[in-house]
Amino acid sequence: MQDLHQSNDDVTPILSVVIPCFNEASVLPELRRRLIRACETAVGSDFEIVLVDDGSTDQTRELLCQYHQEDPRIVVVILARNHGHQLALSAGLKVAAGEKIFVLDADLQDPPELLMPMLDRMGEGYDVVYGQRISRAAETTFKKRSSHYFYRILNRIVDINIPKDTGDFRLMSRRVVNILNTMPEGDRFIRGMVSWVGYPQISFPYHRDERFAGETKYSLRKMLSLALDAITSFSTVPLAIATTLGFIFAALAGFFGIYTVAVYFLGYAVEGWATLSVLVLLLGGVQLILLGVQGEYIGRIYMQSKGRPLYVVDNILRATPRDLAASKQDRQTHSSSTDA
Ligand code: UDP
Ligand code: MG
Repeated sequence: MQDLHQSNDDVTPILSVVIPCFNEASVLPELRRRLIRACETAVGSDFEIVLVDDGSTDQTRELLCQYHQEDPRIVVVILARNHGHQLALSAGLKVAAGEKIFVLDADLQDPPELLMPMLDRMGEGYDVVYGQRISRAAETTFKKRSSHYFYRILNRIVDINIPKDTGDFRLMSRRVVNILNTMPEGDRFIRGMVSWVGYPQISFPYHRDERFAGETKYSLRKMLSLALDAITSFSTVPLAIATTLGFIFAALAGFFGIYTVAVYFLGYAVEGWATLSVLVLLLGGVQLILLGVQGEYIGRIYMQSKGRPLYVVDNILRATPRDLAASKQDRQTHSSSTDA
């Protein structure tokens, strides 16, 4: 495989690394240093790094453009505005040309050095090697707890098996990414979509580090929206809750009917306005919640039916094969002169 692509004028790299970046200027220098080293150790110089600027408002875009100027292996995708992590990642996956695609976050919570062992694991015949967190350094208890329960609830209601405690940190084969690229849904929960694709997949347990610098870009609102996308993308079970509850309440009503008749014949005076108002409120509440559940689905159908593109690209900075070859030559001369 490797030889085939090297003879192919180096157009298709062995490895693409895809990283969505939103206001990550403070981590980028360290990310670049560690990532380039990890890639060079793993595959030599035959790789590209696709950095997606997701509408950042800090120095991220300028830094990325500068990195591209300095190193043509760095490809930069600039989105027209902030589209969110999952769409930024989708944009990067579409642009990535490599045979194997490595996805990680910009903030160095997922150690780039794990690339090598993950490639080894993939070499055993897997299409996807996904990072599974065995610990998470310095994240809030709320985040850890909510994510813990989220994955357990998700797995109870969705039809496919979405591995617990995973993020988008993973290594994927070209054929998996090709299929992801054809999936048109706008509400994307990529780790679930990867499970849906199938093929041999294996977990790779790792310790999730602290964010290197800056703050989390996942607000509570973004987390909730991702959770809702996850559930609605893979299950229609919530829509059926109404039916189940309908039966339960109908049965309860039956029992109450019998009870009322019995009480009437036994001659008790029935006041019961409190019971009634509680029941009315309860039923009203349940109905509103279930209407809301349907609204979540209908809203998604509506948005999808517009058939809009998933994201808008402002610019893509990518070196020509000739620039790549020239810079490779430069590096080789440089390394042989430093060796001498
Ligand atoms: N991110 C993005 N767009 C967003 C939010 C986040 O591209 O709207 C990127 C962010 O730059 C990072 C990754 O998604 O590379 C994960 O975000 P973050 O580390 O803030 O999330 P956390 O690890 O706290 O869940
Ligand atoms: Mg993070």
